[in-house]
Amino acid sequence: MNLRELNKIFEKNKNFLEKAKWYISDPLSFKWWGNAENAEEVFISAILVQRSKWETVERILKKLKKKRLINLKKLAKIEYDKLEEILKPIGLRKVKAARIINSARKITEINGLERLREYKNVRKFLLSLEGIGKETADSIMLFALNIPTFPVSNYVKRVLNRMGITSETSYEKLRNKIVRELNKDLYELKLLYAGITSVGRIACKREPICKICILKETCKFSNFSLI
Ligand code: SF4
Repeated sequence: MNLRELNKIFEKNKNFLEKAKWYISDPLSFKWWGNAENAEEVFISAILVQRSKWETVERILKKLKKKRLINLKKLAKIEYDKLEEILKPIGLRKVKAARIINSARKITEINGLERLREYKNVRKFLLSLEGIGKETADSIMLFALNIPTFPVSNYVKRVLNRMGITSETSYEKLRNKIVRELNKDLYELKLLYAGITSVGRIACKREPICKICILKETCKFSNFSLI
């Protein structure tokens, strides 16, 4: 099985992906990422989701939308205490409030995400922001800025390993391998990430629940037949 074949399975299981809030869309759409409406929503939620469940992120996004705060210019000026209050009950809310305000200020200083997209080294800029590591930076690049890259989450390592596709664990080696094999194709890269993350969230936990997994018939690690 190769990555494109894996993607064919994900494509056939749109409903499974939607259960995990990933929406197969056109290559440039923001909808892939939890039905996001714009790049700023993807950016903000990529910080919110760090070590948190997507369901909690959705609750916070609703509050931010109600207050018309899915807007980096406004978030650059918001008082820290006010944002921290809105972020309740998400974990690490003090840290995340500071990260969002700090990032919003830096991005507003350079005239927004569209301007950032034109930078030669977008990844370096994102990694220079407080609290943005490789996985968050690559998520923002792929899903908010439509730049071909791949976030290597624990789900990615686990599912590809259990499927018998690769046992590579180095972040950069795995990212480069995936981007190369999928020929920098935005649709394929987004689909692979959406599919793997859905499998990880729903079935491929530390103790896998293979009987409900869409990959159970092709996975080398599957215990489906034993159940
Ligand atoms: S079949 Fe089981 S081990 Fe394989 S990816 Fe699915 S949940 Fe994980």
